[in-house]
Amino acid sequence: MKIRNIYRNKKIVFSCEVFPPKPGAKKDSILETIRDLKSTSPDFISVTYGAGGETKEGTIEMAIKIKNTYEMEPLMHLTCVDTKKENVETILNKISQEGVENILALRGDIPADRNFKSTVSDFSYACDLAAYIKSHMDKFCLGVAGYPEGHPEAYSLEKDIKNLVRKIHSGASFVITQMFFKNDFFYAYLDKIKKIGIKVPVSAGIMPVFKAKLLSRMIKLSRATVPSELISIVEKYKENDVEMEKAGIEFATKQIEDLIKHGVDGIHLFTINRASLAKKISSYSNLR
Ligand code: FAD
Repeated sequence: MKIRNIYRNKKIVFSCEVFPPKPGAKKDSILETIRDLKSTSPDFISVTYGAGGETKEGTIEMAIKIKNTYEMEPLMHLTCVDTKKENVETILNKISQEGVENILALRGDIPADRNFKSTVSDFSYACDLAAYIKSHMDKFCLGVAGYPEGHPEAYSLEKDIKNLVRKIHSGASFVITQMFFKNDFFYAYLDKIKKIGIKVPVSAGIMPVFKAKLLSRMIKLSRATVPSELISIVEKYKENDVEMEKAGIEFATKQIEDLIKHGVDGIHLFTINRASLAKKISSYSNLR
């Protein structure tokens, strides 16, 4: 099913994000995660592509398995980094034959040791990739990324929102945001994008901080602002993994409860391949 139709039919769309195994690594654990996630009845499961140097073939394989083995709706991420038009064509042909209908079109994380110009790509920005997919094979439902605090490379939030408009005009039907830990950023972002006429549904990206070490890695990637409440939680439980996980789940649950009260279109949980987190958070926040 096309994800834009899921948003039409559901009050709140609940989705989970997983990443494929590294090349050569066993697939048992990710397949177990996907199987376990099924018990939370997510409306769709997204699979990252090439993030942090992980395999790209694995993404395609996982998306197809989610669709045909586990009978859930996959959202396959696809990035511009190192991507040529012919690669996109091959991928689109393959996934469309297997019934995968949804793609998250992204620029992609640039490997730490390179700049974008040194990557081999036919696409500079996510809007170019989205437009190419639309013009080449208009049978996919496309999503794109949004940044409530602005993309780290953007000159300003306003300029970044103009980029979001370009992505919607290139054919995107929904937005999934970068993680944020303070809902006020998300609400202000929604106000701004609605004011300039963006009407597509927006899912809020929620990252449960279940390990103290995770937070610094996540901030480095997303540059999300961390509220003092979350800093205190991490300080308090940094030596106690069990209590840190409980507190991280509670923090994410509270964030989601508040978003639901404010009428959010969707919650997208970055699960970091831990189905147990998704189960607890979706049940505590009454999403499932
Ligand atoms: P773009 O929309 O192309 O924007 C990139 C930057 O360029 C922004 O600063 C934007 O303002 C600017 N820009 C865009 N168009 C123009 C233009 N025409 N002129 C001038 N400036 C412009 N990364 C991965 O590698 N794999 C993944 O699977 C992955 N999944 C993600 C999932 C979600 C929900 C999110 C939020 C991010 C994900 N990322 C992933 C990270 C993402 O690829 C990075 O944040 C990347 O740096 C930007 O991607 P984008 O698609 O938002 O880029």
